[in-house]
Amino acid sequence: MNHDELNHWAKRAADWAREYHAGLRERPVRPRVTPGAVAAQLPSAAPEQAEPMERIFTDFEAIVPGATTHWQHPRFFAYFPANASPASMLAEQLANAMAGQGMLWQTAPAATEIEGVMIRWLLSALGLPGTWTGTIHDSATTATLSAVLAMREAALDWQGNAAGLSGQRRLRLYASAETHSSVDKAVRIAGIGQENLVKVATGAGHGMDPQALDAAIRSDIGAGFLPVGVVLCVGGTGIGACDPVGACVDVAKAHGLPVHVDAAWAGSAMICPEFRSLWSGIEGADSVVFNPHKWLGAQFDCAVQVLADPADQLRTLTMKPDYLKTLGQAQVTDYNDWTVPLGRRFRALKLWFTLRAYGLEGLRERIRNHVAWARELSEAVAALPGFEIVTGPALSLFTFRYRSDAETEALLRRINDDGRVYLTQTRHAGRFVIRVSVGQFDCTREDVMTVEEVLRDLVGGEA
Ligand SMILES: *Cc1c(COP(=O)(O)O)cnc(C)c1O
Repeated sequence: MNHDELNHWAKRAADWAREYHAGLRERPVRPRVTPGAVAAQLPSAAPEQAEPMERIFTDFEAIVPGATTHWQHPRFFAYFPANASPASMLAEQLANAMAGQGMLWQTAPAATEIEGVMIRWLLSALGLPGTWTGTIHDSATTATLSAVLAMREAALDWQGNAAGLSGQRRLRLYASAETHSSVDKAVRIAGIGQENLVKVATGAGHGMDPQALDAAIRSDIGAGFLPVGVVLCVGGTGIGACDPVGACVDVAKAHGLPVHVDAAWAGSAMICPEFRSLWSGIEGADSVVFNPHKWLGAQFDCAVQVLADPADQLRTLTMKPDYLKTLGQAQVTDYNDWTVPLGRRFRALKLWFTLRAYGLEGLRERIRNHVAWARELSEAVAALPGFEIVTGPALSLFTFRYRSDAETEALLRRINDDGRVYLTQTRHAGRFVIRVSVGQFDCTREDVMTVEEVLRDLVGGEA
């Protein structure tokens, strides 16, 4: 296949994509497929001879869409929707066409400079200080890892990177139990260790109790441990819990500790000023991550980390072997210094396209609709016999259950086998609950209210 043929097939792929998206509501959100069924349709080794694209494309159509969970389905209410606005898909096509690698300014001047401008646009859109800066990672997990590594190194006076951790005091990091498992992963990878991630008790509204944080830090210092920092969550994954950012930042600062905030999902909502009370005090944090690929419509993957001062992270992650030196270019930003991987895709392009093609007002309207529809749906579910709202809407996320754990789990299986909507579960206060997470870019009020219809259909005779 050459570039002329690519041109032909790219047009065919664009037509296919149009039909695929137009027909999504006709498909079950989660495919009815058994494990191993896809692999069984593929030969056991790569072909020795070139195959015609016609046959490859035919196989794609026969095998892939029917065994795909449709994340762009308007009735995807599982996990947190990972959105791809049409404008961001177009930007990805263009980035793919150039297929550059943005590790240095020199290897990608446009990608680097547009990334810098997008960070400034987003800081302003989220109401964060204009003096902050930031970068784009692949995922919130990597952003949080980067922040935790910087915390570790600052606490160890940069001796962890230099000498390793074996001779060091026991390091401690603090987060609530509502915080995402990416924080657990970060302490493992950073060599801090799972046992040294202190899960601080939560108080009102499932947020971290600042007094419990203070007590935990004091007790660790008394025991001779070395606290490195605090990770807060705004919009936790299970039920959307929000730590009281201002009060926890005050405690951390009193102990001289840096604060990283995981707002992977909820951060996008802060383009709406009325939701910013959920992270009030955020300007006191040192680092915040949010995923525009979740609720802002920038196609996966796109995780933005903003930083009050990037110095510690740069000192922790910058590597300058001879082959990466940019001769005569001292005044440029080389974004690989900010992130764990060296190589970087041109992720800023889809932000540029998305923010321009919808405008902040268009994006706010979507988020506000999702929040309003989630509330309306939660009220409708609460009114169904046998159903209970366990955690009320946090932005556009709520959880419910039906009679008992066993019946709730059985109902969830039936909902997802039915296929009109897709929901997932979590545990809250020891109980099995079903999550409803509204946020797909193209979903309508009718799509959201379909959840109520499905619940009525499935338990109608039983209640
Ligand atoms: C989705 C999510 C993450 C993980 O995001 P990735 O980008 O997939 O690593 C972390 N924290 C929260 C609160 C999330 O919602």
